[in-house]
Amino acid sequence: MDQTLPNFIRQTPYPLLIDGKEMPSESGATFATINPDTGEVLAQVARASAPDVDRAVQAARRAFEGPWGKATPRERSKALMRLASILNDKAEMLAQIEMLDVGKPIKQSRASTISLAPTIEYYASVLLSLTGETINISDPTLMDFTLREPLGVCGLIVPWNYPVSLAVLKMAPALAAGNTVIIKPSEVTPLSTTELGLAVMEAGIPPGVVNIVHGTGPEAGEALARHPGVAKISFTGGTVTGRAIFRAAADSIKRLTLELGGKSPLLVFADSNIDAAVTTAYNDMTRNTGQVCAACTRLVLERPIAEEFLEKLSKKVAGVKIGRPQDNDTEMGPIVNKTQVERIHSYLKVAQEEGVQTVRHVDLSGRAELQRGFYMDPVLFLGANNSMRVAREEIFGPVQTVLTFDTEEEGVRIANDSPYGLAASIFTRDAARAMRMTRLIQAGTVCINHGAKASVDAPFGGYKESGIGKERGMLAMLDDTQVKNVRYSIQ
Ligand code: NDP
Repeated sequence: MDQTLPNFIRQTPYPLLIDGKEMPSESGATFATINPDTGEVLAQVARASAPDVDRAVQAARRAFEGPWGKATPRERSKALMRLASILNDKAEMLAQIEMLDVGKPIKQSRASTISLAPTIEYYASVLLSLTGETINISDPTLMDFTLREPLGVCGLIVPWNYPVSLAVLKMAPALAAGNTVIIKPSEVTPLSTTELGLAVMEAGIPPGVVNIVHGTGPEAGEALARHPGVAKISFTGGTVTGRAIFRAAADSIKRLTLELGGKSPLLVFADSNIDAAVTTAYNDMTRNTGQVCAACTRLVLERPIAEEFLEKLSKKVAGVKIGRPQDNDTEMGPIVNKTQVERIHSYLKVAQEEGVQTVRHVDLSGRAELQRGFYMDPVLFLGANNSMRVAREEIFGPVQTVLTFDTEEEGVRIANDSPYGLAASIFTRDAARAMRMTRLIQAGTVCINHGAKASVDAPFGGYKESGIGKERGMLAMLDDTQVKNVRYSIQ
């Protein structure tokens, strides 16, 4: 292990957090987490298996039936506000941890962890207006009303691209609604979520309300998705894993929120502000090194402006600041791990087989400081058509596939011809066309004249194979509740 690491990185194995206590896994097994900038081991982490997950479920159940389940909305809200304040104080440390564990450029890492407190504050606030409704049914002998109740124990399975942010985006609405949770972070990036768990304890939130089980997807993740004591699974990750979780959750008919992949179109019409559209394409390719589910990764360009667009995009891409995550001006850091680099590289071969032109503007071979880590340069695939794998599959790296269209109908057809429907961006100065597009495009988020960026107070979630349910906004909290109808005799 690197002895020069900051003192907030533990030299001893990171524990599981179950029932308010730090503990090793029952088997004593651990795994290593790797720094993507250097390829070196950053820390060791306890590796949970089914018995640990079971202990976490029992603890979460006790907390649900005990103090958290009995807490009033105001008490829950105050506890969440205390947590928000602690996370605000820890934002810089969390940013540094994710810089090391995820390889996120420090500026982007800070932008991500500074948003934790506002996310929690939002749910601490909206939970106070969680209500049922009265219904004027046709039977005069009955008064009918609904109660919104929590589901119970929720399993939150989180990926590695925004570890602590996505954990908080799942945890905050679940707790606000009165549930207790078990978080399974990705084994690739486990460290910041441990700190989140410690902050929960510091906030005085009762033991067992938030439990953290580190471990692999097929072991700890699968055990959580299958456990009969878990009422809901909220998962963000790839569609293949989403399907496996869907199946594992089926036996006990769990509620599901699935935030899966995307191949979102950036539809650019000839009348648009081309510079703004180019900036969006560039940002979606480089931000978090392209490892963003909602990034627009299919450029669908109206033919008359395609050449100008690509010229401008190429110029920007050639100037991208690829560098080490700790450098303040780094725009693009490393890919999260070797597996992902190989996965992205495999698409270079696919492109070759499909007869697609691969354009690479940046040569990293002379950059000695980047040779140990998982760095790669941005890639443009030109001359593709929408039936090719490079246009249909999520690559999840700094890669854009470029397509062209001649008529509005063709542009819409290409944009919608995808198994995914997570997000879309449309650039046009024609207001009527923009409105037509918002109706015609099949995606959970449609952005007009800007990039697909989500905010805490508006719902986010995919159409088609991009998922089920919504995260963010009031809807995320409602998805963490169930509705009880009450029929009261007034005879
Ligand atoms: P996964 O979808 O496999 O991982 C996401 C989470 O699910 C992780 O916590 C993982 O644990 C867990 N998991 C894995 N297998 C299971 C299982 N059988 N049961 C329960 N939980 C499981 O992502 P990968 O890391 O394998 O990346 C593959 C692709 O997925 C990427 O290339 C990208 O296309 C897509 N992806 C999409 C994301 C998004 O934001 N929509 C985020 C990340 C990936 P562990 O990591 O410990 O195995």
